Amino acid sequence: MENKSSTCTEVWDKCLKIIKDNLANDYVYDTWFKPCVAIELKGATLTISVPSPYFYEYLEANYIDLLSFALRMVLGKDAELHYKVHVVTKGSTVTYPTNPGIHVKNPPMPFPNKNTKQLNPFIIPGLQQMEINPQLNSNKTFGNFVESDCNRTARSSGLAIAENPGKVAFNPMFVFGGSGLGKTHLVQAIGLEIKRKFPDKIVLYVMASLFQNQYIDAQIYNNNLNDFLNFYQMMDVLIIDDIQEFAGKEGTQSAFFQIFNHLHQSGKQLIFTSDRPPVDLSGLNERLLTRFRWGLTVELKAPDFETRKAILKKKIFNEGIEMSDEIVEYIASKVTTNIRELEGVFTSLYAESIHNAGKSKKIITIEMAKNVIDYLVNSTKREISIDKIKRTVCDYFGLSIDIIYSKTRKREIVQARQIAMYFARNMTKHSLAMIGVEIGGKDHATVLHACKIVEDIYDTDKVFRQHVTEIEKRINNSL
Ligand code: ADP
Ligand code: MG
Repeated sequence: MENKSSTCTEVWDKCLKIIKDNLANDYVYDTWFKPCVAIELKGATLTISVPSPYFYEYLEANYIDLLSFALRMVLGKDAELHYKVHVVTKGSTVTYPTNPGIHVKNPPMPFPNKNTKQLNPFIIPGLQQMEINPQLNSNKTFGNFVESDCNRTARSSGLAIAENPGKVAFNPMFVFGGSGLGKTHLVQAIGLEIKRKFPDKIVLYVMASLFQNQYIDAQIYNNNLNDFLNFYQMMDVLIIDDIQEFAGKEGTQSAFFQIFNHLHQSGKQLIFTSDRPPVDLSGLNERLLTRFRWGLTVELKAPDFETRKAILKKKIFNEGIEMSDEIVEYIASKVTTNIRELEGVFTSLYAESIHNAGKSKKIITIEMAKNVIDYLVNSTKREISIDKIKRTVCDYFGLSIDIIYSKTRKREIVQARQIAMYFARNMTKHSLAMIGVEIGGKDHATVLHACKIVEDIYDTDKVFRQHVTEIEKRINNSL
């Protein structure tokens, strides 16, 4: 444990050492951690300065566990990390003051924590007077959400809901779309807008996985299921993100069902996101699926080229940096399916330019863009493993993974094996022999034959083609 007289720099250096030891490569360390500078230490609270708002978002989204681990090792269990955004624009230095410049990790949550001594965390005296933290990220506004054909309907219905939450025709709102296409951003924007227009409304954003954990805690450890239900039933606007995670979880679904009914009947707004449309939510109870259809279902589609450019330009503008149109177009042409990936490339480039140029000026060249894309985008593509493919295929067809090795000649199993072989051949760099061994212990000729069959059926059978396309999407999305 750290002795009190340590300076913030010493403390941060120790954290950095732990972080470096736990990262797989120096690139990540150099890009994301090295540019952060310690500026203050008060008790167990360390404040570091980061070069841009995206920086802390990226750190929080990707390295929060590692950061917490390092901080706790050095500062003890009460350690907290605060960020200050320190942006250098065209030679002059701007330190963003207070909100949103200082971001406090772990804002107080109105959620139960089974480790606290508190009697029952869901019993909140005088909830009406109490401020419930809506768990919204102040950057995910409508203003920052670039409008385009891919999201116009979803966006305008979101705005309509914010004008008039709880209106029957838009309740519930069900937003679906692939990973990184803006679902979370959109529903957060709705939450923020409602809070802005109606500050007294109780709004809560919660990830389905957290809701599920709380339900289990409430039920098993604390035996306070009623308080859990009451808590959620007090919301005016309840946003649950990634609701597909309720699939197969009967208990959670039935608690959610009760909450849904209560809120819907009282004219309270419900908003959900999912990575697939309601018809494909196979592990969800029919009575829930029916209710999802009561309101409005909207899709977020993959961004087209112009949208990708517009999103990049917005980020460039927000960060106050310069990037040539040539580079913007290059990135937009290479990173095509996922806005999160697009942001990742942008942020890495930005970070690298600061890292290279020190404090004065930031230059982003096309070579840097190529390197970052190669590293971030192409390398993740290379990382698809045969195992991942096998799992995704078996998952998709509802088969257990061992069945791939069984001797059975049942058509559905043979076909699953062939599809897995086909993807292994097209999405990994493994040899045919290796693929054969990994998928069912076959030889390379069998693999070749399988690929040929998949291609043939793909050309002639529409349903089969849909299966293959969906599986491919899932393999890519799961990276
Ligand atoms: P999802 O929840 O669908 O996986 P997110 O909402 O997390 O995706 O979006 C991924 C990233 O892309 C976020 O940082 C988000 O702010 C950004 N983003 C998504 N859609 C847009 C948009 N239309 N305009 C600007 N940024 C966007
Ligand atoms: Mg999301």
